Amino acid sequence: MANATATKPDVLCVYCGWDADSVDHILPRTWTGDAARPFIPTVPACRDCNARINDAFAPTLGERRRIAYESLERKYRKLLRNPSWSDDEMAELGPRLRHELECREALRRMVKYRLDNLARDDEDPVLDWLLHCAAYGDNFAARILDRKRAASLALSAA
Ligand SMILES: [Zn+2]
Repeated sequence: MANATATKPDVLCVYCGWDADSVDHILPRTWTGDAARPFIPTVPACRDCNARINDAFAPTLGERRRIAYESLERKYRKLLRNPSWSDDEMAELGPRLRHELECREALRRMVKYRLDNLARDDEDPVLDWLLHCAAYGDNFAARILDRKRAASLALSAA
């Protein structure tokens, strides 16, 4: 179910907000092993965030988002720190250098957009995602929610 939605081009990466072209298993392989992988809930993610998070020991989307943020920020720290060129400065450059700087500026804007999304702090994105999946008929998500509710009822009764 979740796998099918992520292949649509208008689905966004739950971490950075860029186009999602892969799915990320929200529990690391080191916890689940290979046999259980098909039953682990997935979220739509871009390949870049997915690769940056990889098999990190981070079971919440907030932690996974932070890992992607740190990795992306580390990679583009230099680019982000470089000052932007003004239009006047750009006009003085030859076409090849100007084109290169325009490409760099576009990359900088894209990275900035993703970092802004990665820096946001949702309250409980895993719960939100489980509710979303359950609402679209994902039985596995519904069962996890039932268990979560049962556990919180047991806690409040104690
Ligand atoms: Zn992403």
